[in-house]
Amino acid sequence: MNIILLGPPGAGKGTQALRLVANHGLVQLSTGDMLRAAVAAGTEVGMKAKAVMEAGQLVSDDIVIGVVSERLDQPDTKNGVIFDGFPRTTAQAEALDKLLVEKGMTLDAVVEMQVDDALLVDRIKTRAAETGGSRADDNEETLKKRLAVYHAETAPLIDYYRGTGKLKTIDGSVPIDDVTKSISSVLA
Ligand code: AMP
Repeated sequence: MNIILLGPPGAGKGTQALRLVANHGLVQLSTGDMLRAAVAAGTEVGMKAKAVMEAGQLVSDDIVIGVVSERLDQPDTKNGVIFDGFPRTTAQAEALDKLLVEKGMTLDAVVEMQVDDALLVDRIKTRAAETGGSRADDNEETLKKRLAVYHAETAPLIDYYRGTGKLKTIDGSVPIDDVTKSISSVLA
């Protein structure tokens, strides 16, 4: 099973992806985690991505698509992948369609986690406090930029995937365990 978790920053995609890893034996493919690892390792990709990420903007489609393509060539993805934070633009969604065909994979579902902006701002404040602000992009000001980017660039993917009949929309504002249950039921 290959699925996409689609939703705004702070919607809980990473948290739910970890649960899907544990419960369904899928591999989490988080472009945010991969880009942060590249920044930490000081690779060429990391050097290009660092300032863009800190500003809450999107890393270029070419870089992100390249990173995803390489990751999909690793054998552990054959049991199924959760795309977490990818695709984020229509160009990325179109590139993913091509990559899946090339690699002989199919997309089973796109789970849209719906959460209001106001709740996301509250959540990011809590996360910044809990993690001691360990993520450079975890603050209210950057979140607001990231939300604007989400609405402009990523939200159009909701219609893109609705058109494929694979879109499953769930309420992401309820407690974490209830979100997990909703995801399980739409995937069943
Ligand atoms: P995330 O951990 O998914 O919230 O991603 C953190 C940051 O990494 C984002 O704000 C972007 O700067 C960058 N990033 C992650 N995934 C993508 C993507 N699919 N396209 C462009 N930029 C991305």
